[in-house]
Amino acid sequence: MAVYDPKSLKAEEFINDEEILATLEYAEANKNNVELIDQILEKARPRKTENGCVCAGLTHREASVLLACEIPEKIQKMFEVAEEIKLAFYGNRIVLFAPLYLSNYCINGCLYCPYHLKNKHIARKKLTQDEVRAEVIALQDMGHKRLAIEAGEDPKNNPIEYILECIDTIYSVHHKNGDIRRVNVNIAATTVENYRKLKEAGIGTYILFQETYHKKGYEELHPTGPKHDYAYHTEAHDRAMEGGIDDVGLGVLFGLEKYKYEFAGLLMHAEHLEAVHGVGPHTISVPRVKHADDIDPEAFDNSIPDEIFVKIAACIRLAVPYTGMIISTRESEAVRAKMLRVGISQISGGSRTSVGGYTEEERPHDTEQFDVSDQRTLDEVVYWLMENGHIPSFCTACYREGRTGDRFMSLCKNGQILNCCHPNALMTLAEYLEDYASPKTKEIGYKMIEEELGRIPKEKVRAIAEQNIKDIRNSNRRDFRF
Ligand code: SAM
Repeated sequence: MAVYDPKSLKAEEFINDEEILATLEYAEANKNNVELIDQILEKARPRKTENGCVCAGLTHREASVLLACEIPEKIQKMFEVAEEIKLAFYGNRIVLFAPLYLSNYCINGCLYCPYHLKNKHIARKKLTQDEVRAEVIALQDMGHKRLAIEAGEDPKNNPIEYILECIDTIYSVHHKNGDIRRVNVNIAATTVENYRKLKEAGIGTYILFQETYHKKGYEELHPTGPKHDYAYHTEAHDRAMEGGIDDVGLGVLFGLEKYKYEFAGLLMHAEHLEAVHGVGPHTISVPRVKHADDIDPEAFDNSIPDEIFVKIAACIRLAVPYTGMIISTRESEAVRAKMLRVGISQISGGSRTSVGGYTEEERPHDTEQFDVSDQRTLDEVVYWLMENGHIPSFCTACYREGRTGDRFMSLCKNGQILNCCHPNALMTLAEYLEDYASPKTKEIGYKMIEEELGRIPKEKVRAIAEQNIKDIRNSNRRDFRF
């Protein structure tokens, strides 16, 4: 039997079933242990240091106790601490991105995904390079600067060379004042050699959702195709890091298996990356199974209500304070609003989840991967964020300045956010307002920028940011960054 070892490179040892079951038992036994819960909450809180702020984070066992706790005032406290952490390390910025679907050809048999091989009626489509260019122009015209590319797994139709060519094309398009400055990649688990090629192509984060950490469930949900191999999939982030990608993203597809099990597995995965590579996941995504073509989410009996979903997000925030957290347009405006309060730092906006969807007038459904709940335009999302006190950020500076992996984390810990990420957010927001925003968004946006500039602590930084924003307003000069 596999023995739990966070430093092991074997999936069944670092995501260890026995350890997860023992964790769930411990959490259940302590879910009303108020003294322990208070101690854990106290441990999770950010602490001021001489040059910034630090947070201890929580172990998977500690965080699982919080997740099991059902005492309303303690849950409220979790939400408060989660927001405190988010504001301490990420400020009130929310980074925006859009998914770009390249191809829905797929040879896997995932039971929850409409791209599965047996689906013979879904239209199969793969973008040509001209179509990639057209999609990128449409995305740039919306104001996007950061994409997550998505593709099914199909070595014949979507080989790594195709993905690399698409990345090149995306970075080569400069339409009006537009640019895509960061391409994150969400493609199937692959080899170290291919990860090295992705790194060389200049990608940002490599994102791969585990879907479920429950091995037996995983194998049943992925009955056929290369994705069936639990160990190969679970060990993919290690291979990506071996290939030189130091920003990797994790995620669970909530609704497939029991959430408490998934939560413990997810945190053990984060602990494993930290233990082996010295840096935890750059991001964690929290998708939930949605309706799509021949997929009925009701077929999976582990769906979670919104209250639990928000609690999961808050507990992740408490456990891994420096990790970015992503929520997509799978969720409605109302759910996204709640999630933003408990630690989410990145959201997608104006998304189309079909292949070639951005160049169509109406939202196409024929090649869609899942139904989009939040159907607002990017401009509406940007306006809404500001109305609720969040700064929409189109910043991509860190990775372009080489601040990846632990260098990004130390920026967070040293409290340099207000002197670096904050002005970068304001300058990229000014670009958005000048080039793409509606008059209403522009008005509220410049008001926000005016107020927020005053919060930059270093006078010199503030003066430079003010000057750059003036230049953005009065000229075509773009892409300023600290
Ligand atoms: N094919 C790649 C892979 O296997 O990882 C790329 C990922 S796929 C394009 C993006 C993600 O969408 C999947 O990892 C899965 O979690 C999610 N997804 C699939 N079907 C979904 C559904 N019905 N509802 C919500 N999310 C879904």
